[in-house]
Amino acid sequence: MRQFNVVVLGAGGVGKSALTVRFVRDVFVEHYDPTIEEQYHRPITVDNELSSLEVLDTAGAEQFTSLNEVYIKSGRGFVLVFSLTQEVSLKEVESLRKQIFRIKGTENVPIVVAGTKSDLVSEREVSTATIESLTSRWGIPCYETSSKRGWHINEVFEDLLRQMRVR
Ligand code: GDP
Ligand code: MG
Repeated sequence: MRQFNVVVLGAGGVGKSALTVRFVRDVFVEHYDPTIEEQYHRPITVDNELSSLEVLDTAGAEQFTSLNEVYIKSGRGFVLVFSLTQEVSLKEVESLRKQIFRIKGTENVPIVVAGTKSDLVSEREVSTATIESLTSRWGIPCYETSSKRGWHINEVFEDLLRQMRVR
């Protein structure tokens, strides 16, 4: 069975831990310690092939940019997370994307963008149109997710796994 290292990156409070734990354990954690970094393991079958994902939920990279470099070197694929309720968190995704390309020395890197908290409809700041124009310019898929409701979580990791298998 092939094993892939996935790193979950994004600004503080966007919902990285909630997304990771929803994917790995299928529960919603309302209050996850923002300082805890944790690696999880989950077997996943996509296209009739069983693979193993090692998912690193990062913490604190936003305060220590040097940490990003360590994380980026350790990852084969990346989930870049922003909150649909916080437009400024999209800037961090843009910056991470550039850092990944620089550190990996290529733009041929498996990446999926996840916009979180889609259940918070009245607090939403980022429109689907904005996301579509950005991600089509970048050529990176984006999913609108809710870890609270369990919406489109698996799609994020399945898409990433398909990219990692062929690259
Ligand atoms: P992290 O710092 O990026 O790991 O963010 P957390 O996963 O700790 O989430 C930050 C806050 O957002 C917590 O209060 C979560 O309960 C909340 N949150 C995360 N994902 C969702 C979601 O999909 N919907 C809602 N309503 N709240 C969320
Ligand atoms: Mg966290």
